[in-house]
Amino acid sequence: MNRKAERLQVHSLYGGRCAYCGTAIEIQEMQVDHYLPLRRRKKNGLERDSIDNKKPACRSCNHYKRGLLPENFRKVLKKLHLRIAELYHIRVARSYGMIEIKPFDGQFYFEKKLSMLSAEEAVALNVQKKVDP
Ligand SMILES: [Zn+2]
Repeated sequence: MNRKAERLQVHSLYGGRCAYCGTAIEIQEMQVDHYLPLRRRKKNGLERDSIDNKKPACRSCNHYKRGLLPENFRKVLKKLHLRIAELYHIRVARSYGMIEIKPFDGQFYFEKKLSMLSAEEAVALNVQKKVDP
């Protein structure tokens, strides 16, 4: 698969939205995230650069995730509301009711989207549906 066709495929995975935050992204601005960082895949003997390890990401999420494992990215996001609440301008804006800070609910956009799919749709999309206990 050539690079352009692969980008199109990655972009369409979640309807043109970032796999992590769900923001709509144009294909030109989409960044292709390696879900499991390349160094981790190599360590585990997995093919490093295969399409099944690629997710569409907005610039912010891709930069914030960097080379983190998905679960570590989730941990960082779960503490983000605490970190920003300490920033001076944020404190002032909160005092005046201009903003409200909510904690990350712990689910990436693609996980929410998967939980909305039927088993047949998940098979058709060739994705593993996460089953909650
Ligand atoms: Zn994003």
